[in-house]
Amino acid sequence: MRSSSSSSTTHADSGAAETFADLLARVQACTVCAAHLPYPPRPILHVSPTARLLIVGQAPGRRVHETGIPWNDPSGDLLRQWLGMTRDEFYDVSRIAIVPTGLCYPGTVNGSDLPPRPECAPLWHPQLRAAMPHIRLTLLIGAYAQAYYLGKRRGRTLADTVAAWRDFAPDYLPLPHPSPRNRGWFKQHPWFEAEVVPMLRERVGAALRASDNGAAPG
Ligand code: SF4
Repeated sequence: MRSSSSSSTTHADSGAAETFADLLARVQACTVCAAHLPYPPRPILHVSPTARLLIVGQAPGRRVHETGIPWNDPSGDLLRQWLGMTRDEFYDVSRIAIVPTGLCYPGTVNGSDLPPRPECAPLWHPQLRAAMPHIRLTLLIGAYAQAYYLGKRRGRTLADTVAAWRDFAPDYLPLPHPSPRNRGWFKQHPWFEAEVVPMLRERVGAALRASDNGAAPG
């Protein structure tokens, strides 16, 4: 887990003030669904109290679990290509937070990753978001992130949800998962790379440039 701590305070369930570092320590020590995980819990996230963009994906894959670096795989390479970012820019935790829907590797079945553990997002996302008050835009990558954040506002299919991105502005932007396995989806939906990716870059740039009162500098 990578983080940038400060003296900023957040609030634990007990109502007592805690620092950002205290919150991270609680995340790191989480064992809530350990009995369902293939390995001891290893939450993978990048967070800081100054972050302006939040990226919510699915859950760490095995390679990410082993390296401890989120989006450190071909999916991450394509996501950085969409964003027009270098690795250094992408991993600048002072500006970009990365919190998957499930923080720990859930394992695989028949070669496919299992879904994020359902206990995880309701437990940690509200607390982490509350501790990152400068987030201006949240990228919802894939069906699990969209299900958690958008609920019944989602479209019938992932393509419907992504195509309706205007309905979720300015806070959220739904995206397909940039997995190489989704190449067929990208071919079937050419409007995504032609129209959504340029808009994605524009909105991410505006979120990263935004001042603390939420207005993008002219
Ligand atoms: S997946 Fe989430 S809830 Fe489960 S042990 Fe990891 S951090 Fe805790």
